[in-house]
Amino acid sequence: MLLHTPTLFLVNMVIAAALGICLGAVASPARRDGMTYWAMALASQTLAYLLFSLRDQVSDWLSIVLANGLYLATFALFAEGLSEFQRRRPQRWLDWGPVALLLVAFSLLQPFLQLRIVLISLLMAFQCLRLLQLITSRMHDTPGRGQYFVATGFVLIMVVLLLRLAGIYTGNLDISSIGYSNPVHAGTLLLSAVILVLISFGLLLMTKERADELNQTLAMEDELTGLSNRRFIQNMLIKQLALSQRHRRPLVVLLIDLDHFKQINDSHGHLSGDKALREVAASIQRRLRAQDFAGRWGGEEFIIILPETDASGAHVMAEELCQRVAQTQLESISGKPMTLTISIGLHALNASAEQKYEDLISAADRALYLAKQKGRNRVEQA
Ligand code: GH3
Ligand code: MG
Ligand code: MG
Repeated sequence: MLLHTPTLFLVNMVIAAALGICLGAVASPARRDGMTYWAMALASQTLAYLLFSLRDQVSDWLSIVLANGLYLATFALFAEGLSEFQRRRPQRWLDWGPVALLLVAFSLLQPFLQLRIVLISLLMAFQCLRLLQLITSRMHDTPGRGQYFVATGFVLIMVVLLLRLAGIYTGNLDISSIGYSNPVHAGTLLLSAVILVLISFGLLLMTKERADELNQTLAMEDELTGLSNRRFIQNMLIKQLALSQRHRRPLVVLLIDLDHFKQINDSHGHLSGDKALREVAASIQRRLRAQDFAGRWGGEEFIIILPETDASGAHVMAEELCQRVAQTQLESISGKPMTLTISIGLHALNASAEQKYEDLISAADRALYLAKQKGRNRVEQA
């Protein structure tokens, strides 16, 4: 079987165009997730294949110099997109330098085929290594497996380069005509089609996987304080209550409310109020043990779940938290000092009584009310 090289060029062109159109259709520059650059990369590759196919029908400058330039621009655009995806500043001289170098060198070296092939192979290998470096340097911060597809694609491009060089070296690849059909040409072009799909699919997967992770975080986390949100902490309380009842182990719930918080907002503004909320949340977070859970229950109310803790131990912890918040010197966003105290309602699970999750909350709420009544900045137990 001999695969017809010009047809394979056409196949690659069609695949690059189809993938580019798909990415372009879902890309949005405002999202700044790299997709727009990746769509442009595939458009550049499509044009390169088109110009390769038109060898001898258009000028050599177009089908040799510009076509190869566009081919390398594909990698530069992939790198631009990856930098944008990874929210890092692109290193343009590294990404576009090879393209500029190729355009100049190919204009001068047009008659020297061997030299041209060595040069473009070296430049492509450099770009692939650069892209692999971009991907691997952020592997741990990038969720999901799409990145492995992309990395595999760039490794395979290096394999294609080696195959072609081996083909030329062993005399199996006639490089005198780009349209000449032979097994090495056919093999490398088929592999290129696979690589195109692998990389495009991988990039798309990377953006999807990151969006999924973000959604998952948003579904669990309170945006202002970074603590768990109400839905998450409520589910956690239900789970911990079931575990404590089943194993007859202690469990304590603390409901925390900021004292006279309305005054903070009124005298220092809402943004300073937000800042105070974040700092109280950070104090809570610092005080927790690994097995404890804290969340934002409502506007200026927090909840702490203390598994494996009895009432007296929890009381000590809650008192310490009250003192710590009261002693913390807070600053408004304009730098003015703010003082803040908290009141805490404590409820310990009663092992002998059948208690539901709602009972825990309302008992802690009653205790909190008592703490407010008794003068605030204190801990009370239901
Ligand atoms: P008390 O000691 O009785 O709890 O008094 P308080 O002023 O804290 O109680 P109140 O319930 O009257 O006021 C709570 C205030 O918390 C009112 C509301 O504007 C403010 N608040 C709720 N959520 C937020 C928020 O996300 N940011 C800011 N800055 N303020 C908030
Ligand atoms: Mg309140
Ligand atoms: Mg309050």
